[in-house]
Amino acid sequence: MSAPLQHAFSLDVEEWFQVANLAHEFPRETWDAAPSRLGPSMDRVLDLLDRRGVKATMFFLGWIAERHPELVQRCVAAGHEIASHGYEHKFLWDLDPESLHQDLERTEQALQAAGAPRPIGFRASTFTLTRRTWWAFDVLAERGYAYDSSVHPVRHPTYGVPGFEPGISDVAADNGAGHVLEFPVATYPLFGRNWPVGGGGYFRLLPGWVHRRFYAGLQKRGRATATYLHPWEFDPEQPRIDAPAFAKFRHYLNLDKTLGRLDQLLGRFRFGTLRAVLEDAGHADRLHAADAANPAMRSSASDA
Ligand SMILES: [Zn+2]
Repeated sequence: MSAPLQHAFSLDVEEWFQVANLAHEFPRETWDAAPSRLGPSMDRVLDLLDRRGVKATMFFLGWIAERHPELVQRCVAAGHEIASHGYEHKFLWDLDPESLHQDLERTEQALQAAGAPRPIGFRASTFTLTRRTWWAFDVLAERGYAYDSSVHPVRHPTYGVPGFEPGISDVAADNGAGHVLEFPVATYPLFGRNWPVGGGGYFRLLPGWVHRRFYAGLQKRGRATATYLHPWEFDPEQPRIDAPAFAKFRHYLNLDKTLGRLDQLLGRFRFGTLRAVLEDAGHADRLHAADAANPAMRSSASDA
């Protein structure tokens, strides 16, 4: 019997102009006219995952699924898990329970129309699930989501829930609608704090060997890890947009190294979907119950 799968790889599938850092330059009304760069970036990641034989969780924006159904289908055909990143990358603190319901429903419809099963996993835009927006768990439980991967158990000026359990945990919705598994992005405990090591800017900032050492440490502790990246992080040729110096530094740092670093990480550790890691962590019943509550799932792949 092989050891349980501990490491999950995920992609937040959005365009290069949809990131919070560039919102001043690309407000929502400019998106339809902005040039798409998603296809070639996805080609790079999907080819690498294919070569490494790794299945990943793809958190699609509903907006993307409507415009690129072929990408959703390609991910489904390759055996990747399709999950929800919300419809159009709104921060949770700009929504309320009613508008989050609508946002999730619109995304579920977009994903299903593109050929994916109804999602049972969710990741909020830009880690905006904090103590302030804890009500989102009520909505997720009401809609039958089995898991969420939006809490970042770190200290950060705008997001984060310091002190939150850094491994997989079970969150009871305050409204009694049920439970949602929380699978936070990977952090590493050092000097009495949890440091974000699960992707994005830190993934590109730190040398690959440091990253691999963190992951080896987390593996030894038996901790499940969720890693996240974005397609634009595999696109070194993307247009440079002016932004405050630090934001610009973090955003464009080492874009040419992402692919090679991910290749090494995937070669060193065994990675799979968030769903597969949750199953191996003993939550298969919960995931299957969420599937069963979704009639559309029954006829599709059982994610064996
Ligand atoms: Zn995002």
